[in-house]
Amino acid sequence: MVCAQVKIPDCLGSKYSTYRIGGLFEEAYQPTSLDEALELLQYVCDSKKQLTVIGAGSNLIVASGGIEGITLLTRKMTRIQESFADDQKTVEVLFGAGVHLAKAATFVESLGMTGAEYMIGIPGTIGGAVRMNAGAMGQETSEVVRSVRLFNLRASGPEHWPLEKLAYQYRSSAIDPAIHIVLEARMVFKGGDPTEIRAKMQGNLDFRKAHHPTTPNGGSVFKNPYPKGTEKAHMTAGWMLDQLGTKDWTEGDVRVSPKHANFIENIGNGTSTDLLRLMCRMKQAVKAVYEVELYPENLFIGKATDEEAALWKELTGGAHVGMH
Ligand SMILES: Cc1cc2nc3c(=O)[nH]c(=O)nc-3n(C[C@H](O)[C@H](O)[C@H](O)COP(=O)(O)OP(=O)(O)OC[C@H]3O[C@@H](n4cnc5c(N)ncnc54)[C@H](O)[C@@H]3O)c2cc1C
Repeated sequence: MVCAQVKIPDCLGSKYSTYRIGGLFEEAYQPTSLDEALELLQYVCDSKKQLTVIGAGSNLIVASGGIEGITLLTRKMTRIQESFADDQKTVEVLFGAGVHLAKAATFVESLGMTGAEYMIGIPGTIGGAVRMNAGAMGQETSEVVRSVRLFNLRASGPEHWPLEKLAYQYRSSAIDPAIHIVLEARMVFKGGDPTEIRAKMQGNLDFRKAHHPTTPNGGSVFKNPYPKGTEKAHMTAGWMLDQLGTKDWTEGDVRVSPKHANFIENIGNGTSTDLLRLMCRMKQAVKAVYEVELYPENLFIGKATDEEAALWKELTGGAHVGMH
């Protein structure tokens, strides 16, 4: 049975999240192909166990108690297949859910096509980006996705979703990872100037090197409260936290990054409890001075301790733990 072949023993959240934090996964699988993933998902349906999907774990805080039920790790679902339009002006690329975004960006660049430059510095997978509508440098995943093949756990089978059904908004989509598992995505890119494409990608990498930490982290911790183009857009979460002198604040083995006040670094053996405590202090500080409610950009998954559940409730204003 394929499930036995792709089962990963003693799988820890600290190995599968970029924060390097989190407890043991009860039952984890890492399929290497679409067929293996489909077989595993059928097993999930038949067993009626809870399923959690993890791509690169770059937006996740995994609870100290690990993850109960089945965890699907997509990072070996790395199929890539391109097909050019007859006039060679556009290319449609099929990406497996586990393709890393940096790999996707360099692949599209190698075809001489533009549209994937923003992916180069985002340390996630295609599946995570499609679900989160990941974006950077003014580009978003919703602009390149044409359709998605996913598995619907409620319907116990694969489905094909065109772009319209994904209902994209800022950093969100209609994909509910508790029900819909992205298996593959078809994206379209058009011809571009190779020098400009390379320069854009290098500019993105240089910016991140200068402004983001290299210590284990989970990217932006809080969402920006005001949309771009509005009067208070300059009051980003990072700006307010910086004004309040939160850089270097620590809790156990995690600290607010000295490079960017909306990033938290794991500087040793940080735990999800440390992380959530620090996030609450940051949120409270902003609320006290700016009267602004910050909400987490990071997602919290797994079996929380009572304290972690209470902290997450405070951070989200009531969303229950395990919601992701
Ligand atoms: C240093 C750093 C910089 C970052 N910069 C950016 C940035 O510029 N822009 C940006 O948008 N984000 C950024 N992020 C956040 C993160 O990389 C994105 O949210 C990314 O899309 C998450 O992809 P992932 O594969 O890591 O998803 P994960 O963190 O593994 O999962 C995120 C969510 O997606 C779900 N999911 C994952 N794969 C699938 C799938 N196949 N099917 C269904 N659901 C799935 C998970 O269940 C979870 O709910 C950054 C993170 C870091 C650490």
